[in-house]
Amino acid sequence: MTPTARMSIPGAPEVSAPRAFAPPEARDARGRLNLVGLSRAALAREMAAIGERPFRAKQIWHWIYHRGARDFATMTTLAKPLRARLAERYVIARPEVTRDLVSTDRSRKWLLRMGDGQEVECVHIPEEDRGALCISSQVGCTLTCRFCHTGTQGLMRNLGPAEIVGQVMVARDALGEWPSPRDGRMVSNIVLMGMGEPLYNYDNIAAAIRIVMDAEGIAISKRRITLSTAGVVPMIRRCGSEIGVNLAISLHAVTDELRGRIVPLNRKYGIEELLAACRDYAAGSNARRITFEYIMLRDVNDSPADARALVRLLAGIPAKVNLIPFNPWPGAPFDCSTPEAIARFAAIVNAAGYSAPVRTPRGRDILAACGQLKSESVRRRKSRRDPASQG
Ligand code: SAH
Repeated sequence: MTPTARMSIPGAPEVSAPRAFAPPEARDARGRLNLVGLSRAALAREMAAIGERPFRAKQIWHWIYHRGARDFATMTTLAKPLRARLAERYVIARPEVTRDLVSTDRSRKWLLRMGDGQEVECVHIPEEDRGALCISSQVGCTLTCRFCHTGTQGLMRNLGPAEIVGQVMVARDALGEWPSPRDGRMVSNIVLMGMGEPLYNYDNIAAAIRIVMDAEGIAISKRRITLSTAGVVPMIRRCGSEIGVNLAISLHAVTDELRGRIVPLNRKYGIEELLAACRDYAAGSNARRITFEYIMLRDVNDSPADARALVRLLAGIPAKVNLIPFNPWPGAPFDCSTPEAIARFAAIVNAAGYSAPVRTPRGRDILAACGQLKSESVRRRKSRRDPASQG
């Protein structure tokens, strides 16, 4: 049985993937531990283990996450012998950038290679005076949502904290945002909307988010971080009580029948149960609004009746709706709704008092838009077999 088959819905795990999907240990070929991705407490333990006092951990944290240091040699507040000692035991490693593509609309996609050769993509979406970074949580995905390109590749493995924080660090390297700028940042917001289901890799994404939020480092607050999930209900509760970031739900359909077909996870956690978890989440975070993502699929889920049913479902939830025109990919079994259908849908949701912006597709030309990400490694492998499958 392939790993993907083992993980397929509805046998998907409640909270985390089996050990086979765990990220590899964060050490380089010489056995040196990567300090990126360690919690503050773990970093302090490392320093204690080599006979250093706790404030060393604070200094090093500042160098790594505020200054963006990649090399102990640059840590001029540490004595030279200590720098050398650290370099014998530790590294400060990011994923390797193997491709860097810029769209005509200025969004930018990096293909990143991890230590074990696995690859993920991460996308920067700049606005006038800020920008969002869309990061991945897994190599591939188990969810097999019918409209999503990543869903066609299966799950390779989970990403570790270093690989998740590393995506933010790579973007900051490329955009020259070290030391952490006070304001005017182009990496001002983070969305966990790349490859993978973040709530199936909860421990690792939670560890990474804690590092990203740390005020003495990268310092991006939870109000500027949005986690998007297809609806892993038990983990939504934990996410609310433990990290409290903004929540986005990939709803996409208003009946269990249709949602079960296009988002197979719905067969495990149905719409009613999912919305109950959303109500609780909102109540526990001072009624911060929850974003409902709704992909516009022509003649599938885009009728006025669907829009009215959506409004009824959301009653009582502080919500906004993000309408996402379907982004095509080679061989996709759907078309994007017509602009008229999208406008009609948005008008109905708006009239009910919900903001319902239509997400402008960004980076379609470099296959960087929502649902178009897929490991380049997998695309390449496929295209060797079948050149026609290449986008
Ligand atoms: N697994 C998480 C996060 C990854 S998907 C989740 O399901 O939310 C990020 C968003 O892109 C989701 O709303 C997803 O449904 C949407 N998406 C996937 N494929 C898409 C496509 N082809 N066009 C537009 N949006 C898509």
